[in-house]
Amino acid sequence: MAKILLTGGAGYIGSHTYLALVEAGFDVVILDNFSNAKLDVPNRLQNIVGDSVTVVNGDVLDRGVLDALFADHKIDGVVHFAALKAVGESVEKPLDYMHTNVGGLLNLLAAMDAAGVRRIVFSSSATVYGDTDVQPIPEDHPRTYTSPYAFTKIAGEQILEQLTDDWAVGILRYFNPVGAHKSAMIGEDPSDIPNNLVPYIAKVATGDLEQLGVFGDDYETPDGTGVRDYIHVEDLADGHVLSLKSLIETGNSHTVNLGTGEGSSVLDMVRSYSKACGRELPYQIKPRRDGDVAVLTARPEKAKVELGFEATRSLADMCRSSWAWVSGQIRNDRD
Ligand code: NAD
Ligand code: UDP
Repeated sequence: MAKILLTGGAGYIGSHTYLALVEAGFDVVILDNFSNAKLDVPNRLQNIVGDSVTVVNGDVLDRGVLDALFADHKIDGVVHFAALKAVGESVEKPLDYMHTNVGGLLNLLAAMDAAGVRRIVFSSSATVYGDTDVQPIPEDHPRTYTSPYAFTKIAGEQILEQLTDDWAVGILRYFNPVGAHKSAMIGEDPSDIPNNLVPYIAKVATGDLEQLGVFGDDYETPDGTGVRDYIHVEDLADGHVLSLKSLIETGNSHTVNLGTGEGSSVLDMVRSYSKACGRELPYQIKPRRDGDVAVLTARPEKAKVELGFEATRSLADMCRSSWAWVSGQIRNDRD
């Protein structure tokens, strides 16, 4: 079976993709510098799959680490998750974002090329579409950036588009990944106060934070709050399996949205999470957050046609799995 390198494989999306790939029969190696992942993630993965997990603790910016890894393992393809991902922080530290996200990709591609590994799946983002009234968004919508983070994702896509024909590239534009693995043993685990909606609601549900601030209720949306295309992280992980299979089987590159095509508002999410945790979660309407758009949803058809990908899990599944994960963490902490 094919052997896949996951850079950033101990992170939120990477760890779920690890499990989906192992379940699909792939052999997987993780490279992560644990700058944004807990050191116990590999143990948790091991407990779930019941087999040893191969992890290299290293940096994608370190060419020596990459060369040694490609020498030690006969890698057939790479999924490149490793990146800095906080939009707000990227405005404060644009050079760090260019260095890790663009420099890291270039370093990885050079090492892959030297090792003769020319299949890569790249974590891109709906943020490459900027602020647009075209909703749901098709993949051929022009790209534009509103933050250094978004710039690094567009730059990454453009670099990959310049590669020669002997490369097979999967560019996956994620919409809003949320939820946790069905085992409730891995999930999103932010150490600071979360910026994103679902991790924030989760901390209100656990009692760590008092109430949710809803950023604006005067958007032109059905209930006035922002609408997003939330996708269960396990569906997203399945999308990576299909992307890799397509690269291996066809040798053709693809660029696709990974979303559900359905929009949910902030208040839809509060209601669904309240149901999942069994209590009405408190919230307060606050001013709009700078840089937010009213609506952001995917046209999901291209991923279905080209990869056979279709998200199957509901908003209720996303909230239930998130709650199972965070409430399990509370029990662990108290044990
Ligand atoms: P994450 O921070 O949980 O995972 C990234 C992982 O990469 C972490 O484990 C971190 O320790 C590791 N890492 C960071 N810099 C590294 C380096 N220089 N060398 C080696 N490892 C390094 O983030 P995530 O949410 O799992 O996101 C994964 C990818 O998906 C990122 O590229 C991100 O930009 C992209 N993405 C995420 C979202 C989202 O909402 N979570 C949306 C769109 C795109
Ligand atoms: N949001 C909110 N309160 C929060 C965090 C987010 O009301 O504490 C809203 C935000 O304005 C947006 C939606 O929730 O309408 C999703 O925000 P998130 O930061 O999760 O994702 P993104 O902005 O990247 O789509």
